[in-house]
Amino acid sequence: MNIHDSLTDLIGNTPLVRLHHVTDDVKADIVVKVEYFNPGGSSKDRIAERIISAAEESGQLKPGGVIVEPTSGNTGVGLALVAQQRGYRTIFVVPDKVSESKRAVLRAYGAEVVVTPTDVAPDDPRSYYNVSDRLAATIPGAFKPNQYSNPNGPRSHYETTGPEIWEATDHKVTHFVAGIGTGGTISGTGRYLKEVSNGAVKVIGADPEGSIYSNPNDVHQYNIEGVGEDFYPEAFDRNITDDIKQVTDAEAFEMTRRLAKEEGLLVGGSSGMAVAGALKYARENNLDEHQLVVVLLPDSGRSYLEKIFNDDWMRANGYGDVVDRTSSPSI
Ligand code: PMP
Repeated sequence: MNIHDSLTDLIGNTPLVRLHHVTDDVKADIVVKVEYFNPGGSSKDRIAERIISAAEESGQLKPGGVIVEPTSGNTGVGLALVAQQRGYRTIFVVPDKVSESKRAVLRAYGAEVVVTPTDVAPDDPRSYYNVSDRLAATIPGAFKPNQYSNPNGPRSHYETTGPEIWEATDHKVTHFVAGIGTGGTISGTGRYLKEVSNGAVKVIGADPEGSIYSNPNDVHQYNIEGVGEDFYPEAFDRNITDDIKQVTDAEAFEMTRRLAKEEGLLVGGSSGMAVAGALKYARENNLDEHQLVVVLLPDSGRSYLEKIFNDDWMRANGYGDVVDRTSSPSI
């Protein structure tokens, strides 16, 4: 019989799918790794499983323990899912820019959610980093995964995402493109692909305009969720990326809408950003049909229905021309 004992058995082994339409004039073979096939709906299930298993093995997490983490949502879902399966309590601290639907998902798994202001510095006592530190220090049996510095984050991608791409492409992948949040995905997957190809695979980051990775001198707010930072996390290894492409909110959201409409891929804004970054790189470097570019799409568009896929929200935030380019004319 083909029956899985736990949902966590279904983490990873996500499919690669070729893009046909949004690539426009780009000749390179652009394929996407669709991470919403994970049981919690994002690439973060991978790090959640690895981080919790490692904490159990090291004794940091004991039966009856509490997982406390600042997370923009997806890591929370992954941790909540694995914690639910293994009987741990979870408390998540999220910035207020995270959509209400993402918070509702966390609560649905039985997690507790603490909301903090986005518009404060990381060292402010109200910042989501500091609030979670205080909770972790005061709750007995608390374990803080700390996805920004936990080596098991990048390690999970080194052990699963990288080998999956290498095998699924028959070792023919030439470029790997991913958005950078904690940096765990690009650092772990990129390290594996570089090692196994003797440095032949190029690793390209995609980054929101306003984030530190693509321009440390112009850090400001942006609307793409889950990617970009205002500091360099330990999970990000700067030696792995060959190039980092900057993408604006408007470019990312336009591509996100096109992926749904033209490719049938209902994915989140960081996925649109990654594809926009990949196409920018492919155009600038004249990649041809001999190049096989794998772009990682971290999560589903279901979490962004009231934002990127809502024309009123898009217009209110200044993306009206994006809506006009990607929506059907009304009859
Ligand atoms: N996209 C989304 C929607 C995310 O939640 C994250 C994780 N913060 C990323 C991309 C970036 O992944 P990583 O943290 O591994 O760099």
